[in-house]
Amino acid sequence: MKLELSKVVQGCRLGLLTAIEQTAQHSLDVPGCLLFTHCATVPHLTQDTLHTLSNLPAVTQVTLNCLAEHHEVLEEFKEGVRKFAGLHDTALYCSLHDSATTNPAGHITNKTVSVWGSGGRMELTVAKFMALQAAIKPDFYQSMADGETWQANTSRKRVRKAVDRTLAHLDECLILHQKTQELKQAKIFGVVEGGNILEERVRSARETAKRPVAGFVLDGFQSAAMKQDLRSQLITAVTAELPQEKPRLLQGVGRPDEVIACVEVGVDLFEGFFPFQVTERGCALCFDCTVTTDPETAGTSPSTVLESNEERPVVEEPKENGDSCPENMTRFEMNLNDKRYREDLRPLVEGCSCYCCKNHTRAYIHHLLVTNELLAGVLLMLHNTAHYLRFFRALREALANDRLQDFKRRVLQ
Ligand SMILES: [Zn+2]
Repeated sequence: MKLELSKVVQGCRLGLLTAIEQTAQHSLDVPGCLLFTHCATVPHLTQDTLHTLSNLPAVTQVTLNCLAEHHEVLEEFKEGVRKFAGLHDTALYCSLHDSATTNPAGHITNKTVSVWGSGGRMELTVAKFMALQAAIKPDFYQSMADGETWQANTSRKRVRKAVDRTLAHLDECLILHQKTQELKQAKIFGVVEGGNILEERVRSARETAKRPVAGFVLDGFQSAAMKQDLRSQLITAVTAELPQEKPRLLQGVGRPDEVIACVEVGVDLFEGFFPFQVTERGCALCFDCTVTTDPETAGTSPSTVLESNEERPVVEEPKENGDSCPENMTRFEMNLNDKRYREDLRPLVEGCSCYCCKNHTRAYIHHLLVTNELLAGVLLMLHNTAHYLRFFRALREALANDRLQDFKRRVLQ
C-alpha cells in the first residue's frame, strides 16, 4: 500500500492511495471515504442498483460484528467475503465494529473484546480475531483494539489500560499475521486509542507508529463522544506522531462539517456510514457542496461537482425536540416525512444525476415513506450515497484549486 501525496495545504492532505491489494487494481483518492456495508452489502441496494452510481469508492468496508457468527461457513467456503457476498470490483477493508450502531460497554477484558451480531454477543481473543480475518480475507484490516474509552467519564487509568491493551493486541496480531498463509497479501492498520487524554493519544500514536503497520485507524473520536474543538486538538497531536506516507483512517465521524474539520488536521479516510444514517431517518442530503470555478481555471477543472443551481434545496433547521425532525437529524438534510413535501414535484436535489433524482420527485418519496414502502429506503440510499460521494469529490477539487475556504463557507452556510 502506498500513499502518494500530491499536495498538503494547511494540514489537509490531497493524494492517492495505491497498491491497496496485491494485484494493485484499485486506488483511492484522499481525502475520501469507504463504501459502507452491513453484513457485506450496502443496505437497501443490490449490486446492480448500487452500480447505477458512478465513481464508487474503490474500498468496501465490512465489519467483524456482522461476520463473526458466520465464521464456520466462511472457513468452509475458503474464498473470502468478497466472493461470498458477490461484491464486484472492490478492495476490502475489515473493521471490528460498525460505526452506525453503538455497542454496549463493559464487556472488554485483558484478553478479549466483544462484538454483537444478530445472535447476540461474541467474545473474541486475538487468536479468534485472526482466524476470522483469515476466513474473511480482506486486503487490509484494523488490529484488535480496546476502544471503550469514548464515554466522557472514562478515568485516566482506564484510558491508559486501553492504550496498553491495544498495543499488546497489535503485537500479537502482527505475530499471527506473519504466520497466517491466508493473510500473506493483507495489510494491518494499527489502532490509535487514548480517549480524550492528550498524553495517552500521543503515546498510543508514537508506539503504534514504531510497529510495522501499513496505516492507522484513529478510534474513539465518535461524533457523540466529543466536541469538534477537542477532537481537532487531539487529532493534531496524533497525526504529528504519524509518518507522512501512511494513511490515517478516522472511525465514527461522518458529518460533513466534522469531516472537513478532521481533514484540516491531517485525516485521510473516513467510513461511509453517514448516508445510511440519513436514509434510516427518512431524510435526504441536500447541502450545497459546489465549488465556485476560479476564473483562471474555468473550463479546465474536472466536472466532478454540480453546476451551481439557481434554486437551492430547502434546508431545514433541525429543532431541538421538534416534532417534525427525526432524532439526530443534522442541518445537512431535509426530512422527507414532513408533509410540506406532499405536493413538491421537484427532485430531491436539482441537478443531481442519481437514479432517484432523475426519475422521482420529493412528493413521491414522501408518499413512499408515509406508506412504509421499502422503495423509499432504496431511492434515498441511492441519492444520499451519490450526494456524499459528490461532497468528497468537491472537497478534493477545492483542495486542488485552493478553494477550501470558499467550499467550507458553502457547506457550512
Ligand atoms: Zn440525487
